[in-house]
Amino acid sequence: MASSIRPSRYDVLFEPVRIGPKLAKNRFYQVPHCNGGGYRDPSAVAEMRRTKAEGGWGVIFTEQTEIHQSSEITPFIEQRLWDDREIPALARMAEAMKSHGALAGIQLAYSGINGPNLYSREVPLAVTGGPILTFTADPVQARTIDRDDIRNIRRWFRAAIRRAKTAGFDLVCLYGAHGFGIFQHFLSRVTNQRSDEYGGSLENRSRFVREVIAEAREEMGGEMAITLRLSLHEAGALGFSNAEVRDFIALNRDLPDLWDLAHGTWENCSGTSRFAPEAAQEDLVRGIKDLTSKPVVGVGRFTSADAMVRQVREGILDFIGAARPSIADPFLPKKIEEGRLEDIRECIGCNICVSGDMTGAISRCTQNTAFMEEWRKGWHPEHPRAKGPSESILIVGAGPTGLEAALQLGKRGYRVALAEATTTLGGRVARERGLPGLSAWGRVADYRTGQIAPLPNVETYLDSCMTADDVLEMGFEHVAIATGATWRRDAVARLHLVPIPTEPGMPLFTPDDLMAGDGPIDGRVMLYDDDHFYMGSVIAEALVARGCQVDFVTPATKIAEWTENTLEQAVIMRRLLSLGVNVVPSKAPEAIGAGEVRLGCTWTGAQTTIAADAVVMVASRTPNDALYHELRARDWQGAGILSLKLIGDAAAPGPIAWATYAGRRYAEELDAPDIGDALSFRRELAGLLP
Ligand code: ADP
Ligand code: SF4
Repeated sequence: MASSIRPSRYDVLFEPVRIGPKLAKNRFYQVPHCNGGGYRDPSAVAEMRRTKAEGGWGVIFTEQTEIHQSSEITPFIEQRLWDDREIPALARMAEAMKSHGALAGIQLAYSGINGPNLYSREVPLAVTGGPILTFTADPVQARTIDRDDIRNIRRWFRAAIRRAKTAGFDLVCLYGAHGFGIFQHFLSRVTNQRSDEYGGSLENRSRFVREVIAEAREEMGGEMAITLRLSLHEAGALGFSNAEVRDFIALNRDLPDLWDLAHGTWENCSGTSRFAPEAAQEDLVRGIKDLTSKPVVGVGRFTSADAMVRQVREGILDFIGAARPSIADPFLPKKIEEGRLEDIRECIGCNICVSGDMTGAISRCTQNTAFMEEWRKGWHPEHPRAKGPSESILIVGAGPTGLEAALQLGKRGYRVALAEATTTLGGRVARERGLPGLSAWGRVADYRTGQIAPLPNVETYLDSCMTADDVLEMGFEHVAIATGATWRRDAVARLHLVPIPTEPGMPLFTPDDLMAGDGPIDGRVMLYDDDHFYMGSVIAEALVARGCQVDFVTPATKIAEWTENTLEQAVIMRRLLSLGVNVVPSKAPEAIGAGEVRLGCTWTGAQTTIAADAVVMVASRTPNDALYHELRARDWQGAGILSLKLIGDAAAPGPIAWATYAGRRYAEELDAPDIGDALSFRRELAGLLP
């Protein structure tokens, strides 16, 4: 919003850089990233990419694009280029990407040992056959490819490149990273155990990628550039280690037009802020530029312009690769270009975006509430919808929901009052940011409070606990109640739908108590987690830090089960075990006594007891909706209020991304025509064949 002059030290980020026959206008490179929409939602994805073009990215890529039906990763929804009928959707995407001078890239993938082919039912083809290595442990094995298969796969890459060219792409990226792409499967001695000319020595293992790139260049006829995305390090004695990656690049210095280097597994590459800092892959990528004359791109959840400049100045990277920072703020380059650093909506590193892909839903972003709604709902990450006829809105509660609603309504031009009971803005994030590993989550509040501050039409009232009388007297046309939710003190959640017998003598605490500084400081604590997301494990860490001995009891077979979707489950397990937390899966409390808890096995019902000095319940949350219901019961319309809405966690508790989305939705739909039962978003349906 503010306009400033860009400090000259950032100029280096805006230098054009050559990629083969193409010239990128700057060093901002949106690396391929999934979005849960893929082939199912082509226009939604295209419009999402268009906002990145508008936001100033020099290079913009698609997510992985499956080149052939013999290798697909259902249930995950990516792009497909199986036949010519898929060209128009991808042409729409390429057009959107190029709309503001960016280079349009397509990532081509053949998943080999990673593609279970649940949809196409083709026999999976792998460099060396064996069980499919997906997250989902599908009971499927792949067949080892022979020379004919290799020729076929090369032909399929050629066909995909031809189609990509027809669709209008400038760049093709061959996917060989994260353990997901066949190029890595050939290069790694774990997944390539062949004894023919494609296996054994590094030179032999490099043969396939060299052949594909040579044939790609023939197809491209000098009109497109080719990039190779490799993992920087594959763990294990036989893995394609960082040392071998360097040997490979030294051997094949100028093979692609650009080296796109990503950390090891996807979990490593997309580490959350809880476990990985900005620029986490720096040691793995440093020095690789000296091995090649071609430009290098790498990622690192970069949101700081100074950190980006350092990567370039120190000769580590030529391009600043970004997936999540480009999702959280598609206008990141433009804001740096215009010297508006305070307007950057920094990624918080929560991986809710990833969960959209993992669950086969459409992705959302905690920070960028417009993400994947650009086409479906016409939301824009920067530009507000025009103001409607109403004038004034009162928002009660300044958590993520209330802050987002106030910001978006303020940008639309309404007169907004934001009333908050406490002396801090941010609600749950003001509290959660103090938990171990979650400090970056404070950006949800910081960004919004920073953006609201200069808006003359938004008034914030702290220390203002609103009663129904207050609301009725204030004279606002519209009222949104965003009063959040409170963690329950009993075990009621998914397993127990009603409270269990509990002795009053047992000290019982909730995450809210711990965040407020209360709760046990030593002794043996049973933590019960029937929430399954991050909170249980974070509270366990906090308890250990206080000096407690923690028994982590969960009815699930794994702790923090839902964090599979944010790529954190394994690292959470490692963290808790390393902290000495006693993990007790498949059990749940059945009765809480004084000094002990009776546990039941969720499979057999077998009972055990566990000693405990205190219990912490991470079960479910109760909406704080009393104010709303009291107002509903009063004559609010008689008080001149035109609409009264309950939004965010106060309506239905959920992750922070659900709260910011609810705030955005409220602001977008104010003064919108009543659409009755109609669908609130656009969607594309499959065309029927005769
Ligand atoms: P959400 O995630 O939906 O934004 P939070 O729990 O983060 O919910 O935030 C709700 C905010 O509402 C908290 O900061 C809380 O202090 C505030 N709040 C709750 N009741 C009232 C009230 N009666 N008047 C003003 N603020 C309130
Ligand atoms: Fe970053 Fe979270 Fe948004 Fe993903 S969902 S881009 S991790 S803020």
